[in-house]
Amino acid sequence: MKRSKPFAITLDPGSSLANRTGSWRTVRPEYVDRLPPCNHACPAGENIQGWLFHAEAGHYEQAWRVLTRDNPLPATMGRVCYHPCESACNRGELDECVGINAIERFLGDEALRRRWQFEPPAHSTGKRVLVVGAGPSGLSAAYHLVRMGHAVTIREAGPVAGGMMRFGIPKYRLPRHVLDGEIRRIVDLGVTIELNSKVSNVLDAQRAGNFDAVFLAVGAHIAKRAYLPAGSASKMLDAVSVLRSMEGEEKPLLGRRVVVYGGGNTALDVARTAKRLGATESIIVYRRTREKMPAHESELEEALQEGVLVKWLSTIKQAGESSITVEKMALDAKGNPQPTGEFETLEADSVVLALGQDVDLSLLDGVPGLEIDNGVVRVDERMMTGHPGVFAGGDMVPGERTVTVGIGHGKLAARNIDSWLRGEQWTHPPVHELATFDKLNTWYYADAPKSRQPVLDTIRRQSTFDEVVGGFDEVTAQFEARRCLSCGNCFECDNCYGVCPDNAVIKLGPGQRYQFNYDYCKGCGLCVSECPCGAIRTVPEAI
Ligand SMILES: Cc1cc2nc3c(=O)[nH]c(=O)nc-3n(C[C@H](O)[C@H](O)[C@H](O)COP(=O)(O)OP(=O)(O)OC[C@H]3O[C@@H](n4cnc5c(N)ncnc54)[C@H](O)[C@@H]3O)c2cc1C
Ligand code: SF4
Ligand code: SF4
Ligand code: SF4
Repeated sequence: MKRSKPFAITLDPGSSLANRTGSWRTVRPEYVDRLPPCNHACPAGENIQGWLFHAEAGHYEQAWRVLTRDNPLPATMGRVCYHPCESACNRGELDECVGINAIERFLGDEALRRRWQFEPPAHSTGKRVLVVGAGPSGLSAAYHLVRMGHAVTIREAGPVAGGMMRFGIPKYRLPRHVLDGEIRRIVDLGVTIELNSKVSNVLDAQRAGNFDAVFLAVGAHIAKRAYLPAGSASKMLDAVSVLRSMEGEEKPLLGRRVVVYGGGNTALDVARTAKRLGATESIIVYRRTREKMPAHESELEEALQEGVLVKWLSTIKQAGESSITVEKMALDAKGNPQPTGEFETLEADSVVLALGQDVDLSLLDGVPGLEIDNGVVRVDERMMTGHPGVFAGGDMVPGERTVTVGIGHGKLAARNIDSWLRGEQWTHPPVHELATFDKLNTWYYADAPKSRQPVLDTIRRQSTFDEVVGGFDEVTAQFEARRCLSCGNCFECDNCYGVCPDNAVIKLGPGQRYQFNYDYCKGCGLCVSECPCGAIRTVPEAI
């Protein structure tokens, strides 16, 4: 494809004209950096265009180092992130979005394979921070805080770190050696993780440990219940307990006919797990339609391929000894499901409720200033709770509940904790203007179809916990990285240098980009219209 740097033959600046044509100018071109929409959409705030630039040149370690400035878990995120970056990617308007998530995974896997380590902090601040919970949000905050020179201890209630990445997301989507490898690297950087150490009162723990600040990331682990009249022998379980027990010695006994109640990703994970445990029937009962299902379409597709069935527009009315009664629903004029009085019986050895989770806030009892809203803790724009020095993030605060959002909260909280410890206020650096699709000259880029990740065959998916989606090899990862349009950021294609009729563009050398010689630039705007990625703009000349 056309991303290799074209040769441009040009004369020295100003050599084509004796006149200093700069005096004719009414507008002047300027080099700019714009914010690519992928970066804008990534909840972890990754500089995606920045690391793709290195990846496409085959400089994978450099790419990984740019990526991990924002996110310490790329091999994990490259598997479980729902990649909102790709939905926002400008290339989606040209043909198909860049496979950012799969390249991220490739870099994360390369780093594990080649044992790349994080750079240790250059200095120590002498400050101590307590992080409660070793899920993605706690791990992310701890990682960033240690890199800033603080001493961080994570207290984790469970026997292993990882939170819902380990005790929720099944192995066939996230193999545990990947998660273990990325957590180990964070520990090697200097984060202390104390396992089996539940914090029952946060202020007591802070005082006893002499911590200067606290970041809370306890997640949401209490399964929501639904009132279902149930016969004494019916087996009723909750999804999170079922998935958690998959990590232990004794696998859950669900039987051959399993009914899962709910429509989120957790419901799909349980139903797919039940299939792999040997269920002949794994049926999801969901009260709305497919369009309204909160689970991601790709995961639903994978579940259907594996033989999971879904009863749309249905609710469970009653659970009997070895069957359940389901009531059919119908949509009213406003599109809401309403009972119809029509019933159906389904055979079921077990019923698994996947209706969401609440946060266990008991460790916050008696903390002055704290505000709880709808079962989650309120935080300000700094991620600080109403109690000074106590910050919080991830599933326990308002917002979308995903691993990437948790990682983003951890990063934002770390920046603010760092400032707060110095008695300062962190302010976001100025945000560049968005590099929207209309800023690009798409004629410049060649067609290149999106690369596909390999998928395990269905038979093996139904009976094993082997990873379903495979990774890219190096050639594919590099090809895919080259599909990036470098929206809003110069990638040194030499176009402006080559097209300028006044030779007013000075080339500063590899990685140094270009500069205008305003003595000779007459403001014709040719460079602006010929820049493929929108990295030059014109501004009116001050008269
Ligand atoms: C089944 C399932 C599948 C999911 N799949 C995906 C997915 O594919 N992609 C995605 O982006 N998101 C997914 N999610 C959501 C995602 O897992 C969560 O949003 C994310 O893990 C939240 O991170 P967290 O750090 O806030 O909390 P958690 O990951 O829940 O971690 C909190 C940690 O705190 C510990 N803890 C709790 N209380 C205490 C205490 N008092 N003292 C000490 N430690 C404590 C817990 O043991 C736990 O380890 C899924 C969730 C579930 C349930
Ligand atoms: S973390 Fe998610 S949103 Fe961010 S770059 Fe990776 S796949 Fe995209
Ligand atoms: S083309 Fe590249 S820079 Fe532009 S939005 Fe997509 S990934 Fe980001
Ligand atoms: S034309 Fe090419 S070299 Fe010039 S600013 Fe745009 S991307 Fe950079």
